[in-house]
Amino acid sequence: MHSDGETAGVLFERGDGLTYNDFIVLPGHIDFAATEVELSPHITRRIALKNPICSSPMDTVTESRMAIGMALLGGIGIIHYNNTPEAQIDEVRKVKRFENGFITDPVVLGPKNTIADVDTIHEQQGFSGIPITEDGTLQGKLQGIVTNRDIDFEPDRGRLLEEVMVTDLVTAPEGVTLNEANNILRESKKGKLPIIDGDGRLVSLVSRTDLKKNRDFPEASKDESKQLRVGAAISTQMEDRERLEGLVEAGVDLVVIDAAQGDSVFQLEMIKELKKSFPDVDVLAGNVVTTSQCEHLIDSGADGVRIGMGPGSICITQDTMAVGRAQATAVYQCAKYCRTQGIPVVADGGINNTGALGKALALGANVGMMGSMFAGTQETPGDYFYKDGIRVKKYRGMASVEAMERGGDKRYMYSNKNIKVAQGVSGLVVDKGSVYDLVPYLVQSLRQSFQDMGHSTVEALHLALENDDLRFERRTSSAQREGGVHGLMAYDEPFREGGRDRQ
Ligand code: GDP
Ligand code: GDP
Ligand code: 5GP
Repeated sequence: MHSDGETAGVLFERGDGLTYNDFIVLPGHIDFAATEVELSPHITRRIALKNPICSSPMDTVTESRMAIGMALLGGIGIIHYNNTPEAQIDEVRKVKRFENGFITDPVVLGPKNTIADVDTIHEQQGFSGIPITEDGTLQGKLQGIVTNRDIDFEPDRGRLLEEVMVTDLVTAPEGVTLNEANNILRESKKGKLPIIDGDGRLVSLVSRTDLKKNRDFPEASKDESKQLRVGAAISTQMEDRERLEGLVEAGVDLVVIDAAQGDSVFQLEMIKELKKSFPDVDVLAGNVVTTSQCEHLIDSGADGVRIGMGPGSICITQDTMAVGRAQATAVYQCAKYCRTQGIPVVADGGINNTGALGKALALGANVGMMGSMFAGTQETPGDYFYKDGIRVKKYRGMASVEAMERGGDKRYMYSNKNIKVAQGVSGLVVDKGSVYDLVPYLVQSLRQSFQDMGHSTVEALHLALENDDLRFERRTSSAQREGGVHGLMAYDEPFREGGRDRQ
């Protein structure tokens, strides 16, 4: 076989640090359709996603709304921790409650509760289909159910639920499969199906809305209970151990230990403690950029490693701290080692288009973590405002002065109460519309990128990288200019010029 270009080994062994922009992947041979591309990467040892996409734990990027969007669209969101433990735990709970198979701990009320109590639950949790048990507890005998239709036109919110509840219930016995329960729901045309035991006590609840969510988002990242997957970040500081317990109790799937320089005794201890206390929760450790750092994290029990020190769009670490590494080199070198240990790699930062995401995967990453890509979408925290006539939102580094003032400096262990050295900046990004439009666009471009590279799965791409079938070429600065848009006075970029509104 004739091959030109060079192998990743040769490209990266020269010793100078390369960014995604500094090289290009040479095209391969296409013998499959883009629709046949199967991305489905692991983000950690035990957690597989449908799409290699993850949103950063930043307070201008990921809270429950973003995490729900990410998971429904086949990726995962990591809830930031620049908040109180209660607030972060609540965000995790919102994601886990959003979609279910069997709802094993449904909110219930008793016959003497009032419609106003249902209103409160609706306001706080977003649903109003409430089973009524004899004593108002989950284990009580089921007496009826109250749904929105029973109460929406009732002017007197003080009325007792026993007066308005529906009592001729369609139920299913404990032990039915989810499939059978779904069939009963479809045939009965009801909104909720209570599951009861032999004594008529409520065991769980199945909701018709969830069948629709499953139909509308077939690629969603879900756990065994059909709840959406969600990650949460914590720092390496002692005080976050309590936060951790609450997060695990709320059902978090993935804990991300968030540190700008992840190779510290604090982090290694945290990983060990986490693996000992919560062996069922996967740990994504980091951030690191060298092989020996990866080795330390993996030897301590990390289930996945997050790579990146300094490539973030809002980041000034390399300017301030003199350390870091060019991201393409960091991803290649770290992934090469992590592959030998069977540990997935998350390329974090500097992915500002799908080309960069495709390159990160071609260098051995399993998933790309992005902040600026999703900043400015409707699902991020914060409000839009206008600047010079353009609709914008705030996007800031977690080590920007602004975020540190709200507690974001926990990621940076050497911070001093009196002198805070910023490692990030605060800026603005234009309205990008909704992630429900943006992510399908990203995923489709990535499928096409895989097709052009000639590989239909992440494993096949990594195999080609390993056995030198995948070829690369260094890009001169004029090649980079040639590869970008040039020679135009003005042009539109997709998702950069303000997005469509979506409810
Ligand atoms: P699927 O690929 O999501 O359908 O996963 P499975 O094959 O494991 O699904 C088993 C059953 O669960 C099927 O009847 C699905 O329609 C159903 N199912 C999947 N997700 C949900 C959900 O979120 N809620 C409910 N009620 N059923 C679901
Ligand atoms: P409702 O008819 O007002 O209850 O609301 P929907 O059927 O529109 O929404 C119910 C959604 O909330 C489903 O996706 C459920 O999985 C989810 N959910 C999570 N926990 C609970 C719970 O305790 N009770 C109910 N009713 N729904 C829950
Ligand atoms: P982006 O996708 O915007 O290029 O990079 C996002 C990543 O930058 C985050 O996932 C996180 O690892 C990193 N990051 C977030 N805030 C800061 C910061 O203030 N300073 C530095 N050095 N990195 C940051």
